[in-house]
Parts: sequence; C-alpha cells; structure tokens
Amino acid sequence: MTAEAAWQLPELSVPCLRVQDMQAAEDQQTATATPATTVRRPALSPSRASDFKQCPLLYRFRAVDKLPEVPTKAQLRGTLVHSVLERLFALPQPDRVPERAKELLAPAWAELSGERPEWAQLFAAEDAGQVADWLSGAEKLLDRYFALEDPRRLSPEACELHVEIELDSGVRLRGYVDRLDVAPTGELRVVDYKTGAAPREIGEAKALFQMKFYAVVLWRLRGVVPRQLKLMYLTDGQSLAYTPDEPELRRFERTLEAIWQAILRAGKTGDFRPNPGRLCDWCSHQALCPSFGGTPPEYPGWPEPDPGVETLLDRAD
Ligand code: SF4
Repeated sequence: MTAEAAWQLPELSVPCLRVQDMQAAEDQQTATATPATTVRRPALSPSRASDFKQCPLLYRFRAVDKLPEVPTKAQLRGTLVHSVLERLFALPQPDRVPERAKELLAPAWAELSGERPEWAQLFAAEDAGQVADWLSGAEKLLDRYFALEDPRRLSPEACELHVEIELDSGVRLRGYVDRLDVAPTGELRVVDYKTGAAPREIGEAKALFQMKFYAVVLWRLRGVVPRQLKLMYLTDGQSLAYTPDEPELRRFERTLEAIWQAILRAGKTGDFRPNPGRLCDWCSHQALCPSFGGTPPEYPGWPEPDPGVETLLDRAD
C-alpha cells in the first residue's frame, strides 16, 4: 500500500463534519452541564504564537491593541477556497469533483461577504472583469488542489475542526485544523491547505510551527501522536508531509509554554519589542512601528479575557 493509499477510505461515505456540526453535537452533549455564561478562557493560538515568535510588537498590535487589518484580495481568495473545500467534503463522495467545487465558489463567497460586508467593499470600485479575474484565481487554486488528491477517495473525520486543550502546566492551546483524516488503523493525519501569497520558503517554517502546534493538541487530546502532518500548497501545487515523534512534540510543548510565559511577562509591562525581518513586507502596521520610524499607540493594558483570537483570515493563511 502506498503512503497516500493508507488514508484513502473508499468504503466510507460519511461526509466530513463541519465545525458547526461538531459544535452542535458538543453543545447537545454538554447542554445540561455547561452554564449559559461560560467565559472563553485565555488561550494561545498557533497564529498568535507565531506572531509573537516573529515579532512581539506585531503580536501586541494584533492581540492586544486589536488594530484592524485590511485583508488583501489574495487572503480573501484563500479564505474563500478554504470555505469551498470545507463544503466540498460535506458533499457525498462521488460529488466531490472539480466542477462541483467551482460551483461552490459563488455561494461560499455570498455567505462570507454577507457575514463580513467590509470584505465585499474591497471590490466595490472594481469592474466585473477584475472580479472575474479574482474568481478565476480561486478556480486555479482548486484545480491545483484536485491535481494533488482525489477527495472522492477520502473520508475525513472533520473539517475546520476546533481543537482546544489545557496542558498540565495550565497553558491553554486553541486552534482550528483544516482537515483531520483518520486511517482504518486509527492513525491521524493533520492536513492544512496553504493558499497564501507569501513566497513558500518564507512561510514554510511558520507552517510547520502551526502544524506541530496542532500535533501537540491532538496528541494531548487523543493520546496518539499524529502519524503525518501534511501541508498542501495550492499556489504551486506541491505538498509537504512531515512525521512528528513524541520526544519532538514534548520539546515543542515546552516551547509553547515558554512562548506563553514570555507573552504574559510582556503583557504585564507592555514591553513588546519590534523584531524587524523579511516578514515586515507583509506587516500592515509599519506606520506605527519604531523600526520604520513610527510610534505605537499608548499601551492599552492586557486584554481580558482572550488575548489571541484566531480569525478566519489567519486560518486561510
Ligand atoms: S513592521 Fe516588522 S518589526 Fe514592525 S511590527 Fe511589523 S513585523 Fe514587527
């Protein structure tokens, strides 16, 4: 059996659960036990942990000041493609073909732009041809996805899966897994689609950091080290598979704990320093950054209860 064949489950036809479905099922199970006023507890997400590692000041701007960022059209296209792939896996297996995926683009965009009208505004001044070009870019990403795998042969356990765990140290980790495949042997595969515009060599270390984060959470949740972490790059049609092991995840867990402690220390004092580097080219906050001659706003204090929310755009990075 090839490595890829191990994850193909043609005999199963259960559509992928969307996170909303899983949440509804969870809510049903805990409806009597959970008070109506449950407060989200502070947690570290892979995107914000990665921000802090890259540049503490960027973390502050995003998680503490919560400064708005105007998404690029490439980011929105990535968000749209993620949404389409999630919907695709909710279809019966034989229907998961490129034509159906492309038909899902318009309803998915209608839903996303309905929820976030400011995203639709980004296209307000554009003519129909420019919007068509943008959509055709999304179709190309879908074509590259289908060149990498045949979703009719897969039966993921979940898509856009919300995962959360509190480590023994008390550090809470929270995130969303694009897709979780479970082989008949019970082995787990974490799949992440990459649709970002940043060059792959820049994003790769960041992507592996994110995948190891999910691997730690799933390992601690299920007691099984994921067999494979798979990154699918839809901009260049390549994929990368990585096999973590337990000692590595143990070390990575300590790294995450150290990052959270460093965030809390900086949060108390407001001392979030800039750390300029190549990724500054993708930073929306250069005008407020001392490394670019700017002045950050006055430190607003540590936000309660949740300094590190992950957005839809983060997930579609
Ligand atoms: S411009 Fe660079 S150094 Fe400044 S906040 Fe952004 S990422 Fe950090």
